[in-house]
Amino acid sequence: MAKAKVLVAGAGPVGLVSAMVLAEAGVDVEVFERNGDVMEDLRASTFHPPTLDMLAPYGISDVLVASGLKARMTQQRDRRKGLIAEFDLARLAGSTGYPFRLQCEQWKLNAELVRKLRNHPHVTLRFGCAVEEARQDEGAVMIRIRTQEGMEEVRGDYLIGADGAWSTVRRSLGIEFEGYTYPERFLVVSTDFPFEAHFENLSWVNYVSDPDEWCVMLKVPSLWRVLFPTAEHESDERVLSDEFIEARLQGLLPRAGVYEVVHRTLYKVHQRVASRFRTGRVMLAGDAAHINNPLGGMGMNGGVHDAFNLSAKLIEVIAGRAPDSLLDKYERQRRTIAIEYINANTARNKQLIEERDESARSRIHAELRATAADPEASLAYIRKTSMFDALERAGSIA
Ligand SMILES: Cc1cc2nc3c(=O)[nH]c(=O)nc-3n(C[C@H](O)[C@H](O)[C@H](O)COP(=O)(O)OP(=O)(O)OC[C@H]3O[C@@H](n4cnc5c(N)ncnc54)[C@H](O)[C@@H]3O)c2cc1C
Repeated sequence: MAKAKVLVAGAGPVGLVSAMVLAEAGVDVEVFERNGDVMEDLRASTFHPPTLDMLAPYGISDVLVASGLKARMTQQRDRRKGLIAEFDLARLAGSTGYPFRLQCEQWKLNAELVRKLRNHPHVTLRFGCAVEEARQDEGAVMIRIRTQEGMEEVRGDYLIGADGAWSTVRRSLGIEFEGYTYPERFLVVSTDFPFEAHFENLSWVNYVSDPDEWCVMLKVPSLWRVLFPTAEHESDERVLSDEFIEARLQGLLPRAGVYEVVHRTLYKVHQRVASRFRTGRVMLAGDAAHINNPLGGMGMNGGVHDAFNLSAKLIEVIAGRAPDSLLDKYERQRRTIAIEYINANTARNKQLIEERDESARSRIHAELRATAADPEASLAYIRKTSMFDALERAGSIA
């Protein structure tokens, strides 16, 4: 492989997957992470089948499967009517090695990637190094990093901005982050209460509609995570209080005892896509390039798909087997998917689950039931929600 160094800002799933794919192909990579180590925070928890197919050749998927839960079924439910429609991912057998949604905490992916990359001959992992500025000229890209010892400048041939939603790389390059922010925040509550013992036939992935308070119930190995929207006028302090959370959970399933809440997070949700995914030697990927609501589990998965797409192209360009313009194709393919697929579908998922009008709700439920009952339509639904369609569409863009 010709000598070139790729700098990666951010050691989240997207930066680390990019580093792994590049390094395994013999490309030198230097990764800069602001935090001192991998954070064990509860963020995304769903791995779609194609993401597992992509990670499998690197020995990552089997590690995740061993520490996650296989959700063969996903359910659309209603708080008043119960189960509306169920979709069986076993129908995907034959087109994936993983015909299920894997429920596994995102940090386990990061931890496994760091374990794999720590002593990799082509990787330098630099934790505790915040990228403060990125610039480029004809021949190189330069970043300024802040370390415990002070400021340092590092040069490379390419830079991947995988430094999350508030990306310094994106802002350094003056790239717009177009879109909007929802007025309500999302509250995610984790409890060890066994909801599956109280709701009939509950799956590990449940989207629960309601005109007043919809929710999402997701199981990870040790906990149930329940996501609720919160009203704009409620203060953070109140929304995060024991009293408020207990009322939400009692509303979902009334019981005599008090719920044990292990973890609570409140966050703002956005639908935004960067105006450029590439300028010269710098590419944006993952949350730095696009962010969306979590309904459908497409944020982290879409970001990992960016990482695979971009790394494969960088490998070809660095090896001299493809012209530099191949990197523009990364933008064409993945920006289109971020807009037409990830953003559009997650926004639509939110509209459907929160619908208030009774006749519209009935129509949505009838459509879901009809889709689930029709083998062809349900397979199409499963392929779309598992992100196979998005990858096929990306592959069709020249
Ligand atoms: C609170 C929260 C909850 C979420 N819940 C869900 C969910 O339930 N379902 C879902 O699908 N998605 C969820 N997401 C989104 C999902 O976590 C992201 O889509 C995913 O993490 C994207 O990966 P990434 O690598 O692009 O970015 P990140 O995971 O954000 O990683 C970026 C990394 O860059 C580092 N960094 C940032 N700035 C700098 C800098 N200047 N220099 C060096 N390093 C830097 C950060 O410390 C971080 O480690 C959630 C996100 C948040 C914030």
